[in-house]
Amino acid sequence: MGVFSAEAFDNHEVVAFGNDAETGLRSIIAVHSTALGPAAGGCRMWPYAGEDEAIRDVLRLARGMSYKNAMAGLNLGGGKAVIIGDSRKHKTPELMRAFGRFVDTLGGKYITAEDVGMSVADMEVVAGETKYVGGLTTGQFASGDPSPLTAHGVFVGIRAAVRHKLGRDDLEGLTVAVQGVGHVGYKLCKMLHQAGAKLIVADIYPDLVEQAAKEFSAIAVSVDEILSQGADVVAPCALGAILDDASIPKIKAAIVAGAANNQLARDEHGEALRQRGILYAPDYVINAGGIINIAFEVEGVKPTRQEAEKRVETIYGTLLEVFEKADAEGRPTHEVADAVARARIAAAHERKIKEFRAA
Ligand code: NAD
Repeated sequence: MGVFSAEAFDNHEVVAFGNDAETGLRSIIAVHSTALGPAAGGCRMWPYAGEDEAIRDVLRLARGMSYKNAMAGLNLGGGKAVIIGDSRKHKTPELMRAFGRFVDTLGGKYITAEDVGMSVADMEVVAGETKYVGGLTTGQFASGDPSPLTAHGVFVGIRAAVRHKLGRDDLEGLTVAVQGVGHVGYKLCKMLHQAGAKLIVADIYPDLVEQAAKEFSAIAVSVDEILSQGADVVAPCALGAILDDASIPKIKAAIVAGAANNQLARDEHGEALRQRGILYAPDYVINAGGIINIAFEVEGVKPTRQEAEKRVETIYGTLLEVFEKADAEGRPTHEVADAVARARIAAAHERKIKEFRAA
């Protein structure tokens, strides 16, 4: 498979391949669009079965970041990086440094951060080689771990979905089934619990489930049963592609709203949810809290927690607009969000071209 002929290729501006024989680095950076600003998005380290799989992933993830940043109203384009390898076995400080040098070769067109298989500590090592990195814990504008603000955004997004679908402003007594109680899911559970919601949780790690059961009086169920619980809201906070032909018919909740990236296995599953009367909060809209927080760091601003939360809370209004437009047009919510994001990117692209010609 080539890049230009790949199914996931969407006129990405740059796709760069980085190799470092000494450290074994094999990495791909995809810049989908810089129309709105430098392309920002995390780096994922994963033991891809082959290059084609890595190319497909990085292309899809980069486009997702363009849409996410556009919908969050950020002056950031979309990009992503992948490193081929098992983070538990192959990740070394030398490899991270080689990756940092690779990021630097793009001269700021792409700004990296943490994603699956990467930690804040890894990004600190990357920062030794390039300034084009966010989500750090040290430095004047360091924004730290993005997951608390991602969870905050998902929480306000669930409130928006409940407002729209159930006509309520509070979560008191509602039941939320949370799939995955990791960095984001656990923090989300805490906020939901404090808001009076009842919780059902599942995770592949029993210790996390036990802790959530103890701390939030959550009911624990198996990973195979979590999506089909008799809950008001299902919040996927684990991996992607979980909304598919098998799971959608079993969903009893009126709302699906969670942090996981790429929740729809295929685009048509957005329509399948709509047909069943299930309100779906497009993943890249509801889970933008982390990148909204990183954007402050990129802008060279150090907000208070309250200021950061306030900007993240714009997710509430953005989602309501998407839900209302989707209802009015009889279309699935993800399709409406995609169209709005694409229009914003296209308008910014036009502006850039005009400015370029005028200069
Ligand atoms: P994490 O790895 O800390 O947590 C994910 C949890 O899901 C883990 O505890 C894992 O054991 C569990 N899990 C995996 N498969 C499962 C299954 N089949 N059933 C139930 N649980 C399962 O990751 P995270 O940082 O909390 O991110 C969660 C999701 O949100 C990911 O899809 C991520 O891409 C997305 N996301 C995260 C952020 C962020 O700020 N961390 C931002 C945007 C999007």
